[in-house]
Amino acid sequence: MTIDQAQLLRTYAEAADTAHQALTALDQISGDGDFGDNLREGLRWTVAALDARPQEPAMAVAGSVFLDKVGGTSGPLIGLLLSAISRALTDASDEREGWATGVREGLAAIQRVGEAEPGDRTMVDALVPARDALDAGASYADGARAALAGAAATADIRARRGRASYVGDRALGTPDPGATGIALLFWALARVAEP
Ligand code: ADP
Ligand code: MG
Ligand code: MG
Repeated sequence: MTIDQAQLLRTYAEAADTAHQALTALDQISGDGDFGDNLREGLRWTVAALDARPQEPAMAVAGSVFLDKVGGTSGPLIGLLLSAISRALTDASDEREGWATGVREGLAAIQRVGEAEPGDRTMVDALVPARDALDAGASYADGARAALAGAAATADIRARRGRASYVGDRALGTPDPGATGIALLFWALARVAEP
């Protein structure tokens, strides 16, 4: 089965719309409150770009929108992830392998640029378990469960990277917004891949 990249991104955009208020609230607690806007706008711009350029590979369009236009720390980092996934899917003969490779390489790029380690309370904490699940041959649904569990577990972490590191213990008990937003990508992947 071939996963429809445009449908996946539209599903992700709908999820980000629905979660906008919750993501904003999370970033108000641990950051500056703009993560819900950044993710929602990035995905709205992506959907608009897909409508305007339907012949281009959808994941590549999304990657360049996030790299070029989306603000916050998260915008360019998500752009690196989506671009790596796009490249890997283009190169792979097996789609499932392509996703595993893309997430692995996207995570590596995010860590090269952002220097966050697992346990720093960032999107890395959702990506590491998702990468491990996909590398181990798990289903997309299990990949999504791993990402969601990783995001939820950030509620117990004191931040060492990003703005959340300035607020000390205030964010304890609430999950990291970026990790939560990344988990929605894997949720959308599972929805579209295994409806
Ligand atoms: P900003 O802090 O610039 O307002 P956003 O609100 O767009 O950025 O994104 C915040 C999210 O970015 C955090 O919840 C975290 O998941 C992620 N993040 C912050 N710093 C890093 C980093 N160094 N590496 C990976 N992810 C990071
Ligand atoms: Mg923010
Ligand atoms: Mg900001």
